Amino acid sequence: MSLFNVAKFGGTSVANFEAMSRCAAIIENNPNTKLVVSSACSGVTNLLVELANGVVCEQERTKIIEKLADIHQAILAKLESATESAVEVQKILDTVTRLAEAASIQESTKLTDHLVACGELMSTHLLAQVMRERGINTVRFDIRQVLRTDNSFGKAEPDVEQTALLAHEKLIPLCQEFVVVTQGFIGSDEQGNTTTLGRGGSDYSAALIAEAVKAEGLEIWTDVPGIYTTDPRIAEKASPIPEISFSEASEMANFGAKILHPSTLVPALRHDIPVFVGSSKEPEKGGTWIRHQVQSSPLFRALALRCNQTMVTLRSAKMFHAYGFLAKVFEILAKHKVSVDLITTSEISVSLTLDQTDTAGGAPELPAAARQELEELCTVEIEQNLCLVALIGNNMSESRGYAKKVFGTLEDLNLRMLCFGASPHNLCFLVHESVARHAIQKLHQELFEV
Ligand code: ADP
Ligand code: ASP
Ligand code: MG
Repeated sequence: MSLFNVAKFGGTSVANFEAMSRCAAIIENNPNTKLVVSSACSGVTNLLVELANGVVCEQERTKIIEKLADIHQAILAKLESATESAVEVQKILDTVTRLAEAASIQESTKLTDHLVACGELMSTHLLAQVMRERGINTVRFDIRQVLRTDNSFGKAEPDVEQTALLAHEKLIPLCQEFVVVTQGFIGSDEQGNTTTLGRGGSDYSAALIAEAVKAEGLEIWTDVPGIYTTDPRIAEKASPIPEISFSEASEMANFGAKILHPSTLVPALRHDIPVFVGSSKEPEKGGTWIRHQVQSSPLFRALALRCNQTMVTLRSAKMFHAYGFLAKVFEILAKHKVSVDLITTSEISVSLTLDQTDTAGGAPELPAAARQELEELCTVEIEQNLCLVALIGNNMSESRGYAKKVFGTLEDLNLRMLCFGASPHNLCFLVHESVARHAIQKLHQELFEV
């Protein structure tokens, strides 16, 4: 049993009964699909995050739990045989109630993960039943038995070896008999605590599971027919890309294209698993193939936008012609576990952006203790409300003339922290969030709509 396909369905793809039925049709259509990875129903994780943040007023909590119940109840109401699924969903809602109350007294990242995992635990009961009722021989599987992670709650790191071992023991035998439906986004640590891979993590789960079972293909079904030249919600004329390389798509995901969780392509690349991205609403429209080898490598491939950036600028006259300054800065950052994303330097200053660590996607903060230590060395300036614009392409560091076009197009904007030339695949810069969409729209018009 080595040739099979893993299909992942995102939140909008499993938003209601009709959407779940479309997923079932897609699954039926590919007899190689033996494993289905599902997100929570659309909107559910946001409600669970709200509860996990601690809703003190009991009435408010009840309102949110009722909303959760309604979303799942609407699907249960359309099933032919709902009794068993209804019991299971109710058990999970009872857990949500209990954990939400605990979170209102004292939040913890461990509790948050247990609570937000409940969305995927519920949706998979329903999707499995929808599939059974269409005659697909389906079993639901709790992925926490297989997807082993460390205990960094909120952004857990997978243990790839352990996951592969457990998948061989527990998951692959099931796939020989059934189409297995399981949860994206969640896993468990060695002690059996529930963990999550970070918001949008179901894509990453699907790729990790595909790697663990040595799948021959991975399909990511979402609400758009493939990866576009930029987010179609920002630029109306964005167009789908039929084929894209792993490195280009990884750059897009890393630079914030929400269509794929940033880590998704790491396992797929490790095992050279081709990835397809398509729309579960309009599967007939085709989609994007992400492959190792592609037919064309255009200079400009796509534009990505990542908001909620925090820029830290460190200034010191001592930096001028001195050595060891940057080493000290990074020693302090490493000591306080601050992960740096982009960096630019000049004679007496260095600017850097902080990596996103917040599960809820807010702007990352420089810890007060790190700031204090840095201030003994230099002045520290922090700016927020910034967005990172990235132009992704090929052989960019060897091409001439295009920077003039890019900067000429945006000459009326204040561009910050230009990163250009270090990678052949991208050029990126920060802009104030109030002009970020405008920057993407103008660049798209100039570089992709001609
Ligand atoms: P899912 O719930 O299926 O995981 P997401 O909302 O996480 O779906 O991702 C799909 C969304 O990603 C699209 O609706 C689109 O707005 C956004 N997106 C951002 N960049 C791109 C891009 N380059 N191509 C297509 N969609 C993109
Ligand atoms: N349900 C999770 C979220 O909303 C994971 C996912 O959908 O990928 O972030
Ligand atoms: Mg997503």
